[in-house]
Amino acid sequence: MDPKIKTSTLAYNSIKQMIFQYQLIPGQKITYDFLAKKLKVSNTPIINALHRLEQEDIVVSIPNRGFVIRDVNIEEVEEYFRIRAALEMLAIEDAIKNQKPKQLRELNAARRIHQEFKVFSRNRLVKDAAFHLKIAEIGGNKLLARLLKHLFEFIYLRLRTESLPFHRIAETIEEHQGIYTAIESKNLIRARACIKRHIAQDRKATIEGIHEANTAYIP
Ligand SMILES: [Zn+2]
Repeated sequence: MDPKIKTSTLAYNSIKQMIFQYQLIPGQKITYDFLAKKLKVSNTPIINALHRLEQEDIVVSIPNRGFVIRDVNIEEVEEYFRIRAALEMLAIEDAIKNQKPKQLRELNAARRIHQEFKVFSRNRLVKDAAFHLKIAEIGGNKLLARLLKHLFEFIYLRLRTESLPFHRIAETIEEHQGIYTAIESKNLIRARACIKRHIAQDRKATIEGIHEANTAYIP
């Protein structure tokens, strides 16, 4: 590979990794110099990498100001939760029909891992997604599971976790327990009600968090 392309690809991978690991936070302004120093390369591969990330909608360029890590807006959050509710409603219905004891134990394990997180973090959101993705996996519709995974990544990469309301930590644990019990007892009406409520509450908290982050953010 051309050494210049190789350096740009390395820079691209490193920046993306930093976003995944929450070292670069949604809404954060980034400059070429900052990244060039951090990754010990010149500005050119950084510029190439940022343009590639811009095409993927992960960063946005602001004229004369540089690049900013993309965050979500309210409209996207509304769209996300609407699609998620529809997909998860299907997933839970399939999971009730197709569940096997081993899968149920795995779902319970995913539920327990998530509840160990006592503060909001990117990692906690990933574990929350893992619980929901397990339900889709139990359901057995692979395309649905893939769509749901893509949907989770879309929002989690763009969300500032520190602004999410703290009361959701305990509430989510209780709601996941309700979802799990409803699936285990094959109670479709209850399961639907539990997932609907959980997603509605998450939507409310996410919007609250965005408002909070926007108020606190000083450019
Ligand atoms: Zn959840």
